Amino acid sequence: MKTETTIHGLTASLQTARTSRKTIGFVPTMGNLHQGHLNLVREAKKLCDVVVVSIFVNPIQFGEGEDFESYPRTLEQDSHLLADVGCDIIFAPTVDQMYGKQPRLTNITVGGITNDLCGQSRPGHFDGVAVVVTKLFNIVQPNFAFFGQKDYQQLAVIRQFVKDLNIPVEVIGVPITRAEDGLALSSRNGYLTEDQRKIAPTIYQSLKQAEKELHAGAALSEVLLNIKTQLTDAGFVVDYVEARQPNLQPIEIFNQDIVLFIAAKLGSTRLIDNLQVQFKA
Ligand code: AMP
Repeated sequence: MKTETTIHGLTASLQTARTSRKTIGFVPTMGNLHQGHLNLVREAKKLCDVVVVSIFVNPIQFGEGEDFESYPRTLEQDSHLLADVGCDIIFAPTVDQMYGKQPRLTNITVGGITNDLCGQSRPGHFDGVAVVVTKLFNIVQPNFAFFGQKDYQQLAVIRQFVKDLNIPVEVIGVPITRAEDGLALSSRNGYLTEDQRKIAPTIYQSLKQAEKELHAGAALSEVLLNIKTQLTDAGFVVDYVEARQPNLQPIEIFNQDIVLFIAAKLGSTRLIDNLQVQFKA
């Protein structure tokens, strides 16, 4: 496994793969890797000859007062984990390598689907994601790129601009990896105190409870309210509890498959999760 920190170095490392027409799989991450990230790499290994994982804490997707400075940077530990799952190349550029010194005058805004959910409480976040992912796609030029369904709205945004801009990459969504108690794995879980970590699985429990209630015929508005109450009672400050169609459009018909979304804070740690609820026709 190689680690490249410059675009030039990465391009050189991928040269042989490209000329011998090997398929390149790409997993963009911000590092501090856990089994959720590693499962994306495992999926990439199944489908691709060469797997590139980027580790880059992208400043432009963090808002003011968010955790850009304190975000955990654990490259050495990440490298060991990636070697174990057969990653071929780590791309770990500096901010300077990605953005240079000149001001960036180009932005990428995906309309509509970024207006609510995380888009509302994190203005500019998805523009920052779209810009960095587009830059990384142009640098790596992968055949396939792997993203987690944990960041469901992010995955939808990426699929949208890839389609709108004819970016020649196939985007693959990978199911959420959870801890045994149901908590969706996240680098931000590391911010939780011992007590908060015990409370955190309430998010998943409330989603599963909601699924049960919906299958039993409860009204969606009532079910969403129950989630909010459960979270608030457990000590969360709820950012949103919402339901959407799988394509993020508002729900129009009862009994269609839906996705439930939660964003909630425990202390200063913001956690997100989602669950697709299926209704048999
Ligand atoms: P991050 O390092 O948080 O930017 O995440 C990098 C990629 O890993 C994104 O595509 C995330 O959706 C994905 N990811 C993070 N946590 C999980 C998880 N628990 N299950 C599945 N994918 C995840």
